[in-house]
Amino acid sequence: MYENERNELAEKLKNKGISDEDVLSAFRKVQRHLFVPDVMKHHSYVDTALPIGYGQTISQPYTVAFMTQALDLFPDSKVLEIGTGSGFQAAILAEMGMKVYTIERNEKIFFKTQKLFDELKVRAMMRCGDGTIGWNEYAPFDGIIVTAGGPVVPPALKKQLAVNGRLVIPVGDRQGQTLQIYTKLSETDFKLIEVPNFAFVPLIGKDGWKEK
Ligand code: SAH
Repeated sequence: MYENERNELAEKLKNKGISDEDVLSAFRKVQRHLFVPDVMKHHSYVDTALPIGYGQTISQPYTVAFMTQALDLFPDSKVLEIGTGSGFQAAILAEMGMKVYTIERNEKIFFKTQKLFDELKVRAMMRCGDGTIGWNEYAPFDGIIVTAGGPVVPPALKKQLAVNGRLVIPVGDRQGQTLQIYTKLSETDFKLIEVPNFAFVPLIGKDGWKEK
């Protein structure tokens, strides 16, 4: 279903500057409409964020593609995602052959997406809890992607990143964030590239925002 729409979306992402063929190819395969609530299915291949309930969203396809490209991973890389949400971002990473670890704090969303992953046979290690403390048991990670916006970079995430790995995280206030892309050069040194103008739902937790 929706194969033409998926190919057209991939083409659109390419025109918007996504050049990584592995990312584009994953977008041609992963069926975004299966991650979107029924009432919004017909918008699944429009390049926009959509509500998934509980005040949360499935990120805009361009944002998912841009962040995935920024991670600069290779097949078999170990990647940690904070904010599983609908599971679409994790499914893209799994489709690309990554070993995916993903954390979601909202229990209802967690169980819903866990069931979906079982049905779709998406391979990912899932945990329900506060992702701002990372997942030390499986560290270091070749890539860490945070899909909710926080006030600071949680120190645990920098620590759990492998040398040469990338950490992609939106940092700012509750309304808008700058996407920060860190490359870990050594245990203590990071290179930072910043891309402005993103808007994610808030990262809530120990090193995130307080719950309202
Ligand atoms: N990657 C998701 C985006 C979901 S929106 C997708 O592809 O659909 C961000 C998600 O982050 C929400 O589900 C929210 O509940 C979750 N979240 C917010 N703070 C978190 C935290 N500290 N740890 C884990 N998940 C968190």
